[in-house]
This record gives sequence, structure tokens and C-alpha cells, in this order.
Amino acid sequence: KLKLSARVQSIEGSKTARFIPLLEQMRQVGRSVISLAIGEPAADTPPAVIEATVKALQQQKTRYSEMAGLKELRAALATRFENCSPENIAIFNGSKQALYAAFQTLCNPGDEVIVPLPCWVSFPEQVRLAGGEPVFVPTVDHQLDMAAIRSAANEKTRAILINSPNNPTGAVYPRRDLEQIARLAEEKDLYIVADEAYSYFVYDNLSYDSVYDLDSIRDRLIVTRSFSKHYAMTGFRVGYTVAPKETAAAMVRLHSHLTGNVCTFAQYGALAALDMDEKLLARGRMDLQRKRDLAYDQVRELFPCIRPQGAFYLFPDISGHLEKDEHSGDFAARILERAGVAVVPGEDFGLDGHVRICFAAPEEQLTEAFKRIREVL
Ligand code: PLP
Repeated sequence: KLKLSARVQSIEGSKTARFIPLLEQMRQVGRSVISLAIGEPAADTPPAVIEATVKALQQQKTRYSEMAGLKELRAALATRFENCSPENIAIFNGSKQALYAAFQTLCNPGDEVIVPLPCWVSFPEQVRLAGGEPVFVPTVDHQLDMAAIRSAANEKTRAILINSPNNPTGAVYPRRDLEQIARLAEEKDLYIVADEAYSYFVYDNLSYDSVYDLDSIRDRLIVTRSFSKHYAMTGFRVGYTVAPKETAAAMVRLHSHLTGNVCTFAQYGALAALDMDEKLLARGRMDLQRKRDLAYDQVRELFPCIRPQGAFYLFPDISGHLEKDEHSGDFAARILERAGVAVVPGEDFGLDGHVRICFAAPEEQLTEAFKRIREVL
């Protein structure tokens, strides 16, 4: 039998997909299953995006394009960030690949990256694939524990990862905390990797502070953002980074051997998304805020839960429903088998005793899912 590399043997596939085979099986035998597991908006991709993509196809925009991404797209994105030029932007196959490129670009073997917990499933594996070591620091009530982060920083630390709005908790970090992270990064000569895939989804008129707003640290900052969630374009696979020019160029060098350009006609779709009416987009956000309220009211009748201020996830504490030696994965399996509702176990995000529930589903599905969970409990 051929041996695979230690590298691929050391990583696990994305855990958020672990219940999909069971879910499919249940559907095949005619069970009704509601999936609140996958992080996708239920909204359709906007017609303007579809039209621009189809038009690009019809115009034969079907060839290789620039490795860093279409110049028009990078130029349009650059206008959205202060003191930013197209050379600071690089387009990737989703922000997932942008993050992968970021860690590959920053880490030497043994370098440490501070990752607050709970965290999105891909961060630890992406850091390890880059030869780095994730150093996990728990959060307090889903907010950054500044003292713990400071004491985790040492001479091996290369970067601090910040994900706000957060997956899986929906936490949004206040500016004063970002400022403290920035000070620490300057003091210890560290990079900040800011995953802002959910930057548009902040509720209750809360102002969203991007790490990019702290201008003094832009020379040590890699921001990643995405078209996936904001414009309901998850399958287009278009995301990007905003980074210092040399860093962006290094990430593109890597990308040039990995996939080359991002799907050319998908990038034209992304360009059209940037022209969309802000009012239309704001309506989508209000819809999600309504769903957040609906889901939060229902989840709180069942479990303790911190109210999410952003993204589209609830992360309730289900530990009161675990038997001795049980983990959140057992609870998620029970809910799937008995209630026909798929959620993601908190242990997959590095915090057991919780589950992640995506509230971007249609409202009637949310209500039905909570009704079924209530019955099973
Ligand atoms: N970052 C976070 C926190 C996410 O939840 C996701 C997707 O679920 C991504 C990044 C990657 O998204 P995409 O590659 O579609 O831009």
C-alpha cells in the first residue's frame, strides 16, 4: 500500500461536514431533516450577479486571467479601504484559500499562531499545514481575554488570528479590544490575521470595527474577506485579502502555483455584486436580524445562550443535557437521529458543551427545528 505524506495524515477533513453522510442517508429513507449545520445564507444569489456572470460567459471571459485577480475587481475593492491600492488586494478562491495563503506566507516551521477559542474549523489545520503551531487561548463569554492572549505571546509567536464577527459564536469584538491586540502586535513584532468573512453581518445598529480601521498596524495586517456570505455567493468561490503590497505579492506567488487565477467569469459576477444597491443589501441584513431574534428567543427557552451580535450562528451551552462522559458530538447525533435537525458540535470548534446552530435558514424551518428539539429534550 502506498504511504501518504505525514502532512496529510496529520490533518482532519473539515469537521462541519461530518454529519452530512448520515443526513443524506436519513433523507434517502424519507425522513424529514432540517439542516442548521452549514454556514450559508438561505437567500438567492442576487439576479444582477447571475446576469453579469452569464454575460461574462457569453463574452468568452472564459480564459486565464491575472493571477492576483481582475484589475477592475481589485481596483473596485481598493476604493473601499482607506489608503489602499489594487496592489494591496489579491483575489482568492474564497477567503478560505486566502487564509491558507496567509499562513503559508507567514509561518516557518515551529512558528506559533495565537487562535482564540472556539474557532472556525479550518484555522488549526491551515496553521499546521503551514508548519506552524496553533496556540489556543480560551475566550471569556465569547470575548477576547486580553491577559491570556498577552501571556500566550512569546518569541515563537508569529501572528494573532482575529475573527470578528465570529464563527461559531457570533461575537463582535469592540474597538478597544482590537486596539489592545494592535498594541501587542506592535510591541512583540507580530502579524495580525483578521478573518472578516462576516463583516457585513452585524446587528442592532452596532458599528462594525474592522482591524483595518486601526491605521497604525496596516503594515503588519492581513485582512481576509469574502463574497460568499455577504452576497449569497458561496459556490462562486471568490474571496480576497487586503495586505501590505509585498505580503500580497508573496501570497499571489504561492497562488500562482496552486490554482492560478480565480474562475474568471465568477470574478465578473463579484464585480457586479460591488455595484449592488446598498438598500437591497441592508434589507437582507435586516432579515437576518429578524431571524436572529426569532431563533434566539426560541433557543433561550431550551439552553443558556449569549446573544450573537453578528454572523449567523447561535452557540448555546447544551452541557446540561449531556450524560456522564458524553460530548457535544453525542448530543448533535442524538438531535439529528431523533429530531431530524442537524447542528454542529461545539467540540469541532474547540469548545465542548455547546452546539452551533445556523439561523440563516428560512423562518418556518427555524421554528419547526426548535419545536422538534424541544420535543426530543
Ligand atoms: N472564515 C470563516 C470564519 C468562515 O466561517 C468561512 C466559511 O464558512 C470562511 C472563512 C470561508 O469562506 P469562503 O471561503 O467561502 O470565503
